[in-house]
Parts: sequence; structure tokens; C-alpha cells
Amino acid sequence: MPELDGPLTALRGQFREWGRDFRARALELDRDPAAVRGWFDLPAVRYLATMGIPAEYGNDPEPIAGHRFHGTRAVERAVIMEELSCADAGVLVASPGPLLAGVLVGLLADKQQKEWFYGRMLAEPLWTFFALTEPDNGSDASAMRTALRPAGDGGALLTGAKRFVGNAARAQLGVVFARNRPGPLGVVAVLTETAVPGYRAEVLPTIGLRGACISAVELDGVEIPEERLLGRHLPPSRRGTWAFIQTFNRLRPGVAAIGVGMARAALEYVRAHRGPLRTGEHDRLEQLERRVDATRRLVHRAAAAVDAGGPDGGPLASAAKLRASALAEDATLAACGLFGPGARLDHPLLDKLARDARSLEFIEGTSAMQRLNVYQGFASGKLT
Ligand SMILES: Cc1cc2nc3c(=O)[nH]c(=O)nc-3n(C[C@H](O)[C@H](O)[C@H](O)COP(=O)(O)OP(=O)(O)OC[C@H]3O[C@@H](n4cnc5c(N)ncnc54)[C@H](O)[C@@H]3O)c2cc1C
Repeated sequence: MPELDGPLTALRGQFREWGRDFRARALELDRDPAAVRGWFDLPAVRYLATMGIPAEYGNDPEPIAGHRFHGTRAVERAVIMEELSCADAGVLVASPGPLLAGVLVGLLADKQQKEWFYGRMLAEPLWTFFALTEPDNGSDASAMRTALRPAGDGGALLTGAKRFVGNAARAQLGVVFARNRPGPLGVVAVLTETAVPGYRAEVLPTIGLRGACISAVELDGVEIPEERLLGRHLPPSRRGTWAFIQTFNRLRPGVAAIGVGMARAALEYVRAHRGPLRTGEHDRLEQLERRVDATRRLVHRAAAAVDAGGPDGGPLASAAKLRASALAEDATLAACGLFGPGARLDHPLLDKLARDARSLEFIEGTSAMQRLNVYQGFASGKLT
């Protein structure tokens, strides 16, 4: 694994410190995901609100040990997301910011669209959303049915339904994937605001990672002006499917880092709150701690490969996410086991961690899909 250099070590230290605010609010947010509205002044929430916006669009984050981290590199995001998830992944995913939508905008938007989107995000903290999954088409995005039809004035009308979309019910703007013709090149992405006729979203009841406010979205003839169509200046092969695969590849090390952070949180909780451990328990805990270190190394290796732009980045990131989501689940459940049968009642934070960890298997691609990516990585020679 590439060891963290001095600036990244400082970044980790700063977010470890800022994360204390998240931990203190974890259970409150779990009860009421809207509580985050009152926390926009917390330093980590302020940072997340513009994380990923490049310097040339005016992002000027507070320096950390003399360095400005714009969150545009996968390795920076992996460090930040591990620390904030170890503190509380719920507050992390509840915070406003460009995240997935911002990465897609970076890949697909032209200069004017970037100025518009990033400009809105820099002016005030806004939630964004990234709507890909549909009620009957989660893993199989090629079966997408949401339609984008020409409106006659150069713009288009968006009609369909999306499901399990993070923050869609409270977002002010976001991106939606839709089909403008059959076939793999018929998937396109558009930018939309949510305060427009035809857009409706409601939060779905969930037991884990409640801060994400995963939502069902209905799109009933939403007007998309021509200037909100993403990728107009790019060939069709670069507009839709390619773009969401690239977006996922770039953010996946960060999602994997969330799993590492959750696992670490559970194991640190055991170290802090459990009395003396029996030999077997001690061995089990140490084994899980070694898995945390090994998985972090894989996450950082994947992040470095993604940042280098090589062909191994995507499959390595899938391997990292696969390992990290299994680890998060194993560690949080093992931690509950170490406190005995009443653990989930007596230790609400551990109970929350175990509920949150379950969701990781599904975020941006299930474990079965990650296994397929890893297999294809080997089969195609991208991974050796
Ligand atoms: C907290 C959270 C946040 C999310 N945020 C977003 C978001 O912001 N935007 C968004 O668009 N979506 C989001 N999602 C949705 C997520 O991307 C989907 O849940 C995921 O893609 C799986 O789709 P699905 O739930 O429809 O399951 P399905 O695709 O129906 O899969 C069900 C099961 O079948 C398995 N399976 C499916 N196809 C195959 C196959 N070919 N081979 C082997 N096994 C298979 C899967 O692995 C899974 O175990 C979020 C989900 C969660 C939990």
C-alpha cells in the first residue's frame, strides 16, 4: 500500500478531530434525519458542502496543515470518508454537497453547466441527488425505462420513476439518467432542479443509514431545457452508461472507506466499553482489526489506481468495496456478539452501526455486481 504522505496524514488527523461532532450527533440523526439542517456550521459539514468542486471553479476550502484539499482525488475522499464514517456514516451521508452528482458533472458537463452547478453549490449548502436506480431495475441499468422525449423547443420532457435515491426528497438539484432511444447508447443524463412541476420525491422508511433519506422519485413530464442536457459536446458513447460507470469507479474507494470506518468504529467501541476479553474473544477482535488494516490498504491501493487513471482502478475499487462491506457487517455483528444477548438494547450506538453496515452491500452496486466486475477485470487482463 502507498503509505499516506505528510499532507494526507494531516488530512486524516483533521477529519478525525472534526468527526467528534458527528459522533456526538449520531443517535439524534438516526431518530430524525432532518436534524442535520441545524448543523451546517460544523466544520466537516461545511467541507462536505463543496467537496469535489475543482479550484478553477472557485472552491477555496480552508487549508489543513498548509494544504488545500478540494476532494477531487479518490485518495483524499477515502481518507475523509473513513474518518467521518468511523465517527458516524449517517451524518456523512446526510450532509449537503455535490458528491456523486458532482463527479458526474465533472465528467459530462460543459463549461457553462459546470459554472452553473458548482456556482450554485458554492453559494450555499445544497443537497444533490444522483437518480439511476428504478423500481424494477436496480443492478440492471440497461433495462432503464425513464424516458427523455423531445419537447420541440430544443428541450425535453422527463417521465418515469426512480427508487432508493439518496437525499432526493430534500435535494435542490441533481442528475437523472434516462433513455432517449433504445440500446446501450440511448442512456443520457440531465441536470434538473427539484422545485419544478412534475418532480415529486418522498423518503422511504428504512432501518439503516437513515441519514441518507433514500427516496422514491416520480418524474411526470419534468421540463429539461436544452442547456441542462449533459454531454451534448461528447460522442454518444461517452454520455450515459460510460459516465455512470466512471462515476461509480471514482467514488467506489470512498464507499469502501465507509465500510472500513464503520468496522473500525465497532471494534474501537468494544475496546473502549467491554471489560476483559477471554482468549477466544481477544483473538477474534485482533483478527477483525487485522482485516481493517488489510482492507484499508486495499482501499488506498484502489484509490491510487483510480487517481492514476489506469485500467485496474475500476476492478480494484470493486474488490475493495466487496471486502469492506463484508468487513463492516462482520465487525459490527461480532461487536454486538461480544456484549451478549442484550447488546442491541444496551448499546444503541452498536445497534445503529450494525443497521447502517447492512446498507453498504447495496450502495452503488451490490456485492454480486462487484464480484462480476472483479471477474471481468481478471478476464480482460485489467487486473493481474
Ligand atoms: C443507502 C443506499 C443509498 C442508495 N443511494 C442511491 C442513489 O443515490 N442513487 C441511486 O440511483 N440508487 C441508490 N441506491 C440503490 C442501489 O444502487 C441499489 O439498491 C442497487 O443497485 C441494487 O438494486 P436493487 O436494490 O434494485 O436490487 P436488485 O438489483 O433487484 O438485486 C437484488 C439481489 O439480486 C442480486 N442480483 C441482481 N442481478 C444479479 C445478477 N445479474 N447476478 C447475480 N446476482 C444478481 C443482487 O446482488 C441482490 O442481492 C442506494 C441504496 C442504498 C441501500
